[in-house]
Amino acid sequence: MMFENTLAFAKKMDAHDPLRKYRGEFHFPKVNGEPVIYFTGNSLGLQPKRTQKYIDEILSDWSELGVEGHFHADRSWWDYHELLAAPLAKVVGAKPNEVSVMNTLTVNLHLLMVSFYRPTAKRFKILCEEKAFPSDQYMLQSQVRFHGRAPESAIVEVKKREGEHFWRTEDVIAKIKEVGDELALVLIGGVNYYNGQVFDMETITAAGTAVGARVGWDLAHAAGNVEVQLHDWNVDFAAWCSYKYMNSGPGNASGVFINEKYHAKTDIPRFEGWWGTKKENRFLMKPEFEPMPNADAWQLSNPPILSLAPYLASLDMFEETGMAPLIKKRKKIVAYLEFILREMDRETKGSFEIITPEARGCQLSVFLHGQGRSLFDFLMENGVVTDWREPNVIRLAPAPFYCSFEDMYRFGQLLKQGVSRL
Ligand SMILES: *Cc1c(COP(=O)(O)O)cnc(C)c1O
Repeated sequence: MMFENTLAFAKKMDAHDPLRKYRGEFHFPKVNGEPVIYFTGNSLGLQPKRTQKYIDEILSDWSELGVEGHFHADRSWWDYHELLAAPLAKVVGAKPNEVSVMNTLTVNLHLLMVSFYRPTAKRFKILCEEKAFPSDQYMLQSQVRFHGRAPESAIVEVKKREGEHFWRTEDVIAKIKEVGDELALVLIGGVNYYNGQVFDMETITAAGTAVGARVGWDLAHAAGNVEVQLHDWNVDFAAWCSYKYMNSGPGNASGVFINEKYHAKTDIPRFEGWWGTKKENRFLMKPEFEPMPNADAWQLSNPPILSLAPYLASLDMFEETGMAPLIKKRKKIVAYLEFILREMDRETKGSFEIITPEARGCQLSVFLHGQGRSLFDFLMENGVVTDWREPNVIRLAPAPFYCSFEDMYRFGQLLKQGVSRL
């Protein structure tokens, strides 16, 4: 497609955007009285306007029904979490019985390690990407120490090549083969938070499985962003948060995927609680744990309904659009943003460099040469919300639900102003 760096062209793109009405379905923060250009949907998605209604419904059920809301609310609380499984399964390419919502992301990764990281004397290593998201690094290190081992010997990091900004699939595969029968687990962020790279999850999962390891994915930056087929790719487990591309609010609940091949295993190690027990018997208060026949067996507590409500509101929107149109628009708007960046780079004589590889989702990470931090500040003051990562990188994620092509054009103009001023 031929792009043009003009307001008229951007407006034409918006007019032809089948998802354009969704922009009006979100609350935008304002700077200088104008809605911002919001590039941080990869960090905290904007609030859908309908979220309020879903929360109000819980509050009014609670005020009118008290404890009876568990069974007599229109959307009863005791099985409210089950409402999320089917729409969420579509977002991550799973069967509804393989998906559950509970806790928060790092908590769930720890809980999943109980089931899927079972080191033995011979097979105890974990493979991840170098410079993984810090919470994932701390989680892995503490798990390894919990099993009485040293992170330095048990954690194997796949590195980028000298002078390159991305991981090569062939290097991940080579490392998996090298570690071979010492490899207990592969756990990587499906989309890297820093450079925006999408890992080849299907190929890597197959390679890990082939050497006898378990393979899990942290989909924090992938869920609601890129195409994922967890079931068909034969992934063992995955977890993600709901507040990035899934627009469910700060610190909100996490989704998990547990491949159905593990559901019937009675000997699988797992930390258990009453919400994981068979729902028919849950209130019989018996001492025996009888697991739910699905991913809900990993549930512990009765879920925080006030957190699930915004997640359900968001999933209703994903259900309305489907992933395919979101992905289609995402590809187009990211390509347009890239075009604008390259135009600006030419006009400003090489002030920045895109470090995100071809295999990408919504995010472009841009290395700013020279006066990075002050350019970032200029953008923020002028209503462009991005984020800053040391040493000199801004991350731009035009979420397809609510960002417009006009936003991209206006961003380019502000960028040019910022660079020429500094
Ligand atoms: C955002 C993110 C997290 C955050 O974890 P929480 O437990 O929700 O705070 C963890 N891992 C990755 C890869 C992330 O991108």
